[in-house]
Amino acid sequence: MTVIAAVLQAPRRLELLARPAPLARRGEAVVRIAATAVCHTDLEIYTGRHPGVRLPVVMGHEATGVVEAIGEGVERLSPGQPVLLNPIIACGDCDACARGHGNLCRNAGLFGREMDGSLAEQVVLPERYLYPLPKHVPLAAATLIETLATVRHAQLRARIASGESVVVLGQGVAGLLHTQLAGLSGARPVVAVSRSAGKLELARRRGADRVVNAAREDVVAAVMDATAGRGADVVVESAGDPGLITPAIEMLAPGGRLLVYGISHRPVPEFTTFPLYFKELTIHGSRALTPDDVPPAIDLVASGAVAVEELITASYPLERVAAAFQEYERAADSVLRLVIVPGR
Ligand SMILES: [Zn+2]
Ligand SMILES: [Zn+2]
Repeated sequence: MTVIAAVLQAPRRLELLARPAPLARRGEAVVRIAATAVCHTDLEIYTGRHPGVRLPVVMGHEATGVVEAIGEGVERLSPGQPVLLNPIIACGDCDACARGHGNLCRNAGLFGREMDGSLAEQVVLPERYLYPLPKHVPLAAATLIETLATVRHAQLRARIASGESVVVLGQGVAGLLHTQLAGLSGARPVVAVSRSAGKLELARRRGADRVVNAAREDVVAAVMDATAGRGADVVVESAGDPGLITPAIEMLAPGGRLLVYGISHRPVPEFTTFPLYFKELTIHGSRALTPDDVPPAIDLVASGAVAVEELITASYPLERVAAAFQEYERAADSVLRLVIVPGR
């Protein structure tokens, strides 16, 4: 028996290939993929901009599916169970894993980047990477839970607290979720910043107290105005634009925290360490998610607290995955998430 997988053979060259159907060994489950959401990480891999990725590879790390078969010793899952995949694969043996930081594992990596991922009809994974989903959560929308879990992980690192002022720079999928989660944590005001009026409207619907159009307004001045001249307690950089780091530091209040969620390989212009000293600032990095972040993120979506369906711009059958990536590259700024759905 074979299954279809979308193999990235070279940058911008995706081919649908038949491969032997995966088998569940001890402790593993085969999952029939229901949907995979494609994010900026995939776009970087697809275009060849992501350093260190070895091709060919099957991309796809934000995925849901239904358990097809289980191996010996699998206890929590049975065939027919809808699941969310945790794509952060950890070796379990290195010093980072030993400290409980599997997201920082020295040896493993991301399902769909360091190893073949979910742009396929079926995958196989150890049981611990599969999280049962309530039956009422639509599986295409549930692919967004992975991103929500990484956003939650980042906000826990920055310890966003009730009554603090939070600025979110960039209102893509992650930025919108940052805006909403900050509000759910009781942050006030939550200031959403974007160059897109459409995304700012989405941010408003997710609870932003103030929206700032960076194409028309001076963002630092707007944040000072929104915080009665004090500056923000927390700034979340979610645009991945190194040009925003220095203004982000400028708009922080004394004792403030900068959460660098969007990432870039480019240097930060005009960066000096003086404000770190003078305002005693903290800069937080954040990588992926830990297993502890997943069940609360599932609950946020399953309970309706965070609506994710409107974050899906379009959905494509797996047969048209190449067209989906072409469209994503063409319209990377306006597309939120594209979802790829195997057809059979
Ligand atoms: Zn992703
Ligand atoms: Zn490890």
